[in-house]
Amino acid sequence: MLRLPSFRLHQPKHLAEALEILAGEGDAARPVAGGTDLWPNLKRRHQRAEHVVSLTAIEELRGVRANGEVRIGATEILGDLEEHPALVGRYPALAAAIGSISSPLLRNLGTLGGNVCLDTRCTYYDQSEEWRRSIDYCMKSQGKICWVAPSSPRCWAVQSSDSAPMLVALGARVKLASSGGEREIPVADLYRDDGIDYLTKRRDELVTEIVLPAEADASRCRSAFLKLRRRGSIDFGVLSVAVALWMDGDVVRDARVVLGCVASFPSPAGEVAAELVGKRLEAEAIAAAAARSRAAATPMDNTDFDPRWRGQVTPVYVERALRSAVGVVP
Ligand SMILES: Cc1cc2nc3c(=O)[nH]c(=O)nc-3n(C[C@H](O)[C@H](O)[C@H](O)COP(=O)(O)OP(=O)(O)OC[C@H]3O[C@@H](n4cnc5c(N)ncnc54)[C@H](O)[C@@H]3O)c2cc1C
Ligand code: SF4
Repeated sequence: MLRLPSFRLHQPKHLAEALEILAGEGDAARPVAGGTDLWPNLKRRHQRAEHVVSLTAIEELRGVRANGEVRIGATEILGDLEEHPALVGRYPALAAAIGSISSPLLRNLGTLGGNVCLDTRCTYYDQSEEWRRSIDYCMKSQGKICWVAPSSPRCWAVQSSDSAPMLVALGARVKLASSGGEREIPVADLYRDDGIDYLTKRRDELVTEIVLPAEADASRCRSAFLKLRRRGSIDFGVLSVAVALWMDGDVVRDARVVLGCVASFPSPAGEVAAELVGKRLEAEAIAAAAARSRAAATPMDNTDFDPRWRGQVTPVYVERALRSAVGVVP
């Protein structure tokens, strides 16, 4: 049985108190919400913490406020969000993405803030300490080499958050707070193409809210989310496709297509979006745009399934997601 290391658990009731602890303890402290990612990572000893700051008793981090845009508190539970009327009615593809995360049991613990901050994943990293020691670890934690690309100076671990590509496609923003103040940035800018240093936010900053823009509401935007994984539940994705389309009549005015699980960040398929703009979404145009997604996906051998097959199947999934967004029967 894997055991948690010892650490000091803080359970602040107010945001300011949590931010003060994070500022004071620096890299020795980590926040925890549902713990469905952090606890396994601490048990496997590839993440470490002397102080863990639980966010679950902080009322300021709860709630869904719908008023034009929709603001979701960071510790809102995934299982509640996937059924929340503000999401199901106005951002159905996001509700679907959230509903595809892990399993009902884990969604009853996991939070949206924890999902957007999910650690990147890799076959050589998401293993027990003993397993990793047997290969002399890897660059992401304790080692020197990347076993996926041994001559590479960087880590290629994959961002597998299911909400992240959909939030980026919808143009969502994230509110960050530290003891020094607050700022709001596009969710797209929260991520960095680096398997180790995968978030741009500072360690003393907390995600406090996710903001869904009014212009991505279902009355103005057609959207879809599709995920490929080995089993229909519990498994992380090996590919996900998030689509958001804004139309002038039946012609595409603007489009965002974002791929998940193929890079260290939610990866925009700009070629696909560019091909769609100005077109009527008929079967041929959808197929032509989807074909361009192959260039945006260069999966590596660090997750389930053969990487070449994952690359080949990408246009198929992009085509299905686009058809689903515009209601073309496959
Ligand atoms: C078996 C299994 C299957 C899974 N399958 C999936 C899947 O299919 N798709 C998927 O996306 N995820 C999956 N997960 C991962 C996880 O369950 C979800 O990503 C979940 O949303 C994480 O939320 P949490 O609140 O539990 O995060 P936590 O574990 O509490 O935190 C995750 C990370 O975010 C940080 N953090 C948490 N809240 C904040 C905040 N407000 N501000 C700043 N940092 C914060 C933590 O320090 C930690 O680094 C799976 C996990 C398991 C164990
Ligand atoms: S991509 Fe390379 S460095 Fe990153 S976790 Fe995997 S093996 Fe380690």
